[in-house]
Amino acid sequence: MNINGVIMADMSSLTVFSPEVYDQRLRRAQEITRSAGIDAVVVATGEDFFYLTGSTLSSHERLTALIIPAEGKPQLFAPGTDILDLNLSPVPNLDVEVHGWNDGDDIYGQVAKAIGQDAATVAATAALTADHLFQLQGLVDAQWVLANTALAELFSSKDEAEIEELRKAAQAIDRVHAKVPDLLQPGRTEREVAEDLTAMILDEHVSVDFVIVGSMENGANPHHSFSDRVINAGDPVVVDIGGTLETGYHSDCTRTYVAGGDISQAPEDFLKAYEVLQAAQKASLEFSKPGRTAQEIDASSRTPITEAGYGAYFTHRLGHGIGLSGHEEPFIIAGNDLVIRESMAFSIEPGIYMPGKWGMRIEDIVTTTADGIESLNQGPRGLR
Ligand code: ZN
Ligand code: ZN
Repeated sequence: MNINGVIMADMSSLTVFSPEVYDQRLRRAQEITRSAGIDAVVVATGEDFFYLTGSTLSSHERLTALIIPAEGKPQLFAPGTDILDLNLSPVPNLDVEVHGWNDGDDIYGQVAKAIGQDAATVAATAALTADHLFQLQGLVDAQWVLANTALAELFSSKDEAEIEELRKAAQAIDRVHAKVPDLLQPGRTEREVAEDLTAMILDEHVSVDFVIVGSMENGANPHHSFSDRVINAGDPVVVDIGGTLETGYHSDCTRTYVAGGDISQAPEDFLKAYEVLQAAQKASLEFSKPGRTAQEIDASSRTPITEAGYGAYFTHRLGHGIGLSGHEEPFIIAGNDLVIRESMAFSIEPGIYMPGKWGMRIEDIVTTTADGIESLNQGPRGLR
């Protein structure tokens, strides 16, 4: 979970893949666009733009957009003020037509022309801001759809290089989790533990996305980060941490601990519920595979938790996709009938939150293989 809303690391230091990787992604984007019956995709700067071009350019109120038409060459429009930045990225080596524009130019008219004024359906990525979107909608009288949903297959399946980055990220955060039991000494505050964790995450990543240390009743609040509460022996503590690698890929992993190391000191009702949670999380790891829908996977944890009487206390979706952004498709949630395919990456993170008492969550990032999943996080899931 990444509830503090940190979406993206400082991307200026990100390393990139070879131009062939981006050309391949652009070709695939075009194929998926075509087969979805969409005439063009407008990709605004941000993670999706970086994924497709390797460029971290962000031009704010001046429009930068990559237009991927169903037919023909992708076209990239960027302000003249920023075009030099583009030259530092793989873009000059890609099979993309680049157009610089200057203040005073009719940029929306040019982009509308690249989209095609007779387009019936146009997709725009979630990062396209309303100022640009409204202008383009005024010029292209098409049905506008959200690319990240309409082209979920494009934005949620990962190539091998990406899965390798997510695997590295998971191993990095697993190494941090391995040190958590030593940090949770009775008498320390959540804040002290969080400060240690921040330093440890930075040892393994280029930036820290979020740190959650929720002891006792604070663990029952999924929006908690950390506080000055003193941790006592036997307190259940939810630790959810994540960071970003220099390639832009994220880690995100939760384990629940008992402070002081003597698990029998934890509240009895907590221990009873933890067995249910762990069994549910395991059931979802076993159930998840290509061909299942996102909502079926959500139910694979929610049903056993509900049957054990804790359904009202499992208050969030089971998981979210992860890659260049911390939260993306596929969202593992009731109502999402997206069919999971091979090479997707998402979290499986059921939780039980007893208001005023304690909370618990177990979270692993998994990728789908041909007939199941690989859990990228490998740390022990039992109480420690
Ligand atoms: Zn998390
Ligand atoms: Zn998560």
